[in-house]
Amino acid sequence: MKAVFVEQPGGPENLKYADQPKPEPGPGQALVKIAAAGVNFIDVYFRIGLYPATPPIVLGNEGAGTVEAVGPDVKNIAPGDRVAYAMARGSYAEYAVVPAWQLVKIPPAIDFQTAAAAMLQGMTAHYLTHSTYPLKAGDSCLIHAAAGGVGLILVQMAKMLGARVIGTVGNEEKAQQAKVAGADEVVIYTKEDFTAKAKGVHVVYDSVGKSTFLQSLDCLRPRGMMVTFGNASGPVPDFAPLVLSQKGSLFLTRPSLAHYTSTPEELSWRAGDVLNWIAQGKLKLHIHKVYPLADAAQAHRDLEGRKTSGKLLLCYPS
Ligand code: NDP
Repeated sequence: MKAVFVEQPGGPENLKYADQPKPEPGPGQALVKIAAAGVNFIDVYFRIGLYPATPPIVLGNEGAGTVEAVGPDVKNIAPGDRVAYAMARGSYAEYAVVPAWQLVKIPPAIDFQTAAAAMLQGMTAHYLTHSTYPLKAGDSCLIHAAAGGVGLILVQMAKMLGARVIGTVGNEEKAQQAKVAGADEVVIYTKEDFTAKAKGVHVVYDSVGKSTFLQSLDCLRPRGMMVTFGNASGPVPDFAPLVLSQKGSLFLTRPSLAHYTSTPEELSWRAGDVLNWIAQGKLKLHIHKVYPLADAAQAHRDLEGRKTSGKLLLCYPS
């Protein structure tokens, strides 16, 4: 089968599009014929070696497709089921083997591309707003990269919960997109300091990391919560906990989706909400572009080059 993988960590040029053995499902696993794979920043971290894995590393942590076969002991799904998943690596390929418990059946109203676009970023926005810092009406939040894949969904969910949203974005066009998603205020942080407009927020959702972390702490009210959940500009440097006290007895967390979808019940709650809200029109996805699987390197260049807003997908021509 065709797959996109890295043998040596590095730039997008290190992505190889070539044959890999078709995987076989073992106990508790399913073989999924991938119809669409989501591109996420986590794929960049695996490509550059920030998140280590054993080569050849087939990239892709999100996909949607049809179950082709199941291994022993699989009861929750069967061949022919339309499924989607996140946080199992190997979706930049024609086929992927996935732990069966991580597969969610796609409602009939939702197509494969929408499902592949929804799972990882949708469930991330869900846990951030419903569990890490559960937003309630009247809360205020700062969301960095508000026009990104996670960002546009996060803005919508924060508004659904009644929060006031201040978003940051890299340019005018993205500012417009964040506003359409519901942001009350948008700051173009490449030109303007965001701390003044975001002063006193209850929570900061920061996926940008290195370049925004310290300034974000200055936006929080006493006992506010700093949620640093990504490294788009690089990992946050070492940091003294005493700073949290000096800036107002702040809370700091560095969460991961894996720990917020660690049981079938929790996964089903988050994926169910996300897919149902999409089917009901309450949550809108913005697909930036669908790339052929063979062009995964270009998708990475666009994502890292801050040229995209919303979701990037890969599809293998069938
Ligand atoms: P995005 O679509 O948000 O793309 C990243 C965005 O970050 C860019 O578009 C850009 O927006 C902004 N950015 C700011 N500085 C930089 C920089 N130096 N280089 C590149 N981009 C920069 O990506 P995703 O939606 O896939 O992911 C968003 C973040 O969320 C990532 O950091 C990812 O790791 C994290 N994440 C974390 C999860 C978790 O559970 N911890 C799960 C899912 C995602 P702009 O131009 O507007 O500044």
